[in-house]
Amino acid sequence: MRTIRLATVLLSALLFIKCSNEKEKRETQNENKPLNFIIIFADDLGYGDLSCYGNPTINTPNLDRMAQEGQKWTNFYAGASVCTPSRAALLTGRLPVRSGMASNKRRVLFPDSKYGLPASEITLAEQLKTVGYTTAAIGKWHLGHKEQYLPTNHGFDYYFGIPYSNDMDMVDGLLPYWEYWQQPNDSIKTAHFNVPLFRNTEIIERPANQNTITKRYSEEAVSFIKKNNDQPFFVYLAHNLPHIPLFVSKEAAGKSKRGLYGDVLEEIDNGVGKILDAIKEEGLTENTIVVFTSDNGPWLPFKNNGGSAGLLRAGKGTTWEGGMREPGIFWGPGNIKPGLITDMGSTMDLFTTFSTMSGAKSIDDRILDGIDLSETLLNHNPSPRKSVLYYRGTEIYAARLGDFKAHFVTQGAYGEFGKRQEHETPLLYNLSHDAAEKFDIAHEQPEILEQIQKLVDAHKSNLVMEKDQLADRE
Ligand code: MG
Repeated sequence: MRTIRLATVLLSALLFIKCSNEKEKRETQNENKPLNFIIIFADDLGYGDLSCYGNPTINTPNLDRMAQEGQKWTNFYAGASVCTPSRAALLTGRLPVRSGMASNKRRVLFPDSKYGLPASEITLAEQLKTVGYTTAAIGKWHLGHKEQYLPTNHGFDYYFGIPYSNDMDMVDGLLPYWEYWQQPNDSIKTAHFNVPLFRNTEIIERPANQNTITKRYSEEAVSFIKKNNDQPFFVYLAHNLPHIPLFVSKEAAGKSKRGLYGDVLEEIDNGVGKILDAIKEEGLTENTIVVFTSDNGPWLPFKNNGGSAGLLRAGKGTTWEGGMREPGIFWGPGNIKPGLITDMGSTMDLFTTFSTMSGAKSIDDRILDGIDLSETLLNHNPSPRKSVLYYRGTEIYAARLGDFKAHFVTQGAYGEFGKRQEHETPLLYNLSHDAAEKFDIAHEQPEILEQIQKLVDAHKSNLVMEKDQLADRE
């Protein structure tokens, strides 16, 4: 009996040594490999929605850990204040007006839209494929749902997801508009939004079961990481949530003090934890970069079902800070130098930064708006981004230069609060002192307004707008 016990102990010890050696061997092999990139992109999540960005009741321990072990950016911007243009900006590294993915007629793509992201655009996935990456898009696409515009025709080897917003394809008569989001009955709510779920170019489920969609997206990302642990990969995981209508799995429901919205975010955070675990298990910690951010600010008219921009003014759809400034977390032990970054960055910069980090050739046949942030990420050098342009559709409403932001036009998101107002003397805020944009200092600093005007004029002087791809319907 004793001999058997001793043999079992010895065998376990040998097995442990073998596993540790294998993991070490894998880690050593991985050391010189190219970096893997994972972008986790939330939908309509506000600047104030994560516990590491000050939310008092939403618990996001995994994102908090990423921020603690990596870099937390406090002046990080989405490329636009609504879904479609923001996603085009991230994936092309260009302002959406340059790709035709910005419009004054329809702000985003819809299920009856005729077009999508033009084939002539180079996506980050296509760029990384030139240096041998395997690529996956998981989740919301929103750059065209017809086959020629789907991720698999834009540089992604694999796609699993809903091709547009989760509130589209509404079935008439099931629920009155504006009430659907507060319906507790999941089966009616699910049936009401008849959105398709794609695997590559095939619809595999309709309506997509949105109660489990967040969990399934994270699981897809984990399985892709495990399958491709021996080659460089890029995963673009764009959650459909917390865009309304809110859905959550049974396991995650009723857990958060913040209510349903909190449950949704905590389920996204839980998935982040599973992805970080998978990276560790595969021995890829030292050569993987994970980024977390969101496409635009919170959808405020939905009250408790929408998120919070924290101290920032307004939300989704506007060019106030709450519409476009987002949490920006970069994690990559051994690569990303931990710290708080208060300089500016943009989702458009991911294209340029990851191009540099992967060794891909820089693109010189078109204007890129992304700036290479790699020296800030790796060495804490000051961010080379000094300005931000805030477009609404194809028009510049505001511009930021250094600490100062000028508003030429302001407009709320919707309805009576959405009235457009042009400012003969632009409004001017010092965002370092006044992130909430409360105190207009235009009369005190006219010379700064002039500098910002020059920046805008220089940008416009070489701007070539692509034809509007969002306006036409079938
Ligand atoms: Mg959005």
